[in-house]
Amino acid sequence: MKQNLLDLNYEDLKFFLSEKIGVEEKKLNMRTQQIFNAVYQKGLNNFEKFTTIPIDLRKKLLNNISLNDSKIVETHESTDGTLKFLVEFFDGNKVECVYIPEKTRGTICVSSQVGCSLTCRFCRSGTQKLVKNLKASEIVSQIILVKDKLKDWGDQKIVSNIVFMGQGEPLLNQNLKKAVAILKDKNGLNYGNKKITVSTSGIASKIAEAANEIGTYLALSLHAPNDKLREEIMPINKKFKIKDLIKQLKYYTSVVKEPIFLEYVMLKGVNDTEECAKQLVKLMAQFPSKVNLIEFNSWPGVKFEPTERKDIEKFSRYIQDKGYMSFIRRSRGDDVLAACGQLRTTSVLKKNL
Ligand code: SAH
Repeated sequence: MKQNLLDLNYEDLKFFLSEKIGVEEKKLNMRTQQIFNAVYQKGLNNFEKFTTIPIDLRKKLLNNISLNDSKIVETHESTDGTLKFLVEFFDGNKVECVYIPEKTRGTICVSSQVGCSLTCRFCRSGTQKLVKNLKASEIVSQIILVKDKLKDWGDQKIVSNIVFMGQGEPLLNQNLKKAVAILKDKNGLNYGNKKITVSTSGIASKIAEAANEIGTYLALSLHAPNDKLREEIMPINKKFKIKDLIKQLKYYTSVVKEPIFLEYVMLKGVNDTEECAKQLVKLMAQFPSKVNLIEFNSWPGVKFEPTERKDIEKFSRYIQDKGYMSFIRRSRGDDVLAACGQLRTTSVLKKNL
């Protein structure tokens, strides 16, 4: 099987060109840059179009490296302009990713796993068993495919922000680091640390490594301000307690020097009481953070209901009055099941025969 180019960060490609293709030492940087530029800045998906590279080298590349081998197989457009894409990978597995246009930016929400192991009670993605971790190329290809669809290969970035808030738990995928390195590379897609947000359900044991080796914004899906309640709605809290998380988040902010975004989905009668707001404020006092209150998006078969708008506003005001930052996040794309927590696909784990 050929090496997929989108699995190689800049250093890997340089090494590959030297070892496998025989590019001479003094041309290595130039060739690596030309290839990154062609794939990630011009969006070329065919070596024949790599006109900056000599024909014999193009032939060698063609024989040894595959380019993006994923494809968009379905597109759904919400009445609010949000686009949901079903992406199929080379192995036939599928994930969803979402493009959310806003006044001043365009955000792509990408998936990191096929299925998810977490089973958060309010999340539709959690009803699809984990099938696999995405490869770096499968993560990067979601961005490339959407950029292609939006004809976003000019100077201006239509896709300006990337959030790892699709299906799966990014911090449980060891390929995340490589994918983010490719997204950040100055010779390629060139997204800065502040244009990328990794969202985690709270894998405390992986947060320090993410601080040291990933360095983007971090969001924590908190959703409950105490262990008892959090455990009921997020089973992962049985393993990693809020106290462990706070310790790790303190470390993250000390390294990355940016506040943590706390995600808090408002579930009627469950986590939206004044007592919860009070406890949340106590947590926020311990490390730099901002809270995003998310409207709960319903899906077939779920037992929770959304908190009423006026009660979300009251909860938000309580936090603000105590001197902390709280925002209410509008739900986008829920008419096509593209909103937070609504993504899932039909891919299942294939049993070994
Ligand atoms: N596993 C990671 C990445 C997924 S991000 C994480 O948990 O952070 C998706 C976000 O949407 C998470 O904050 C998740 O808790 C939230 N979410 C899940 N189901 C939702 C729903 N039905 N309505 C609104 N938000 C939801």
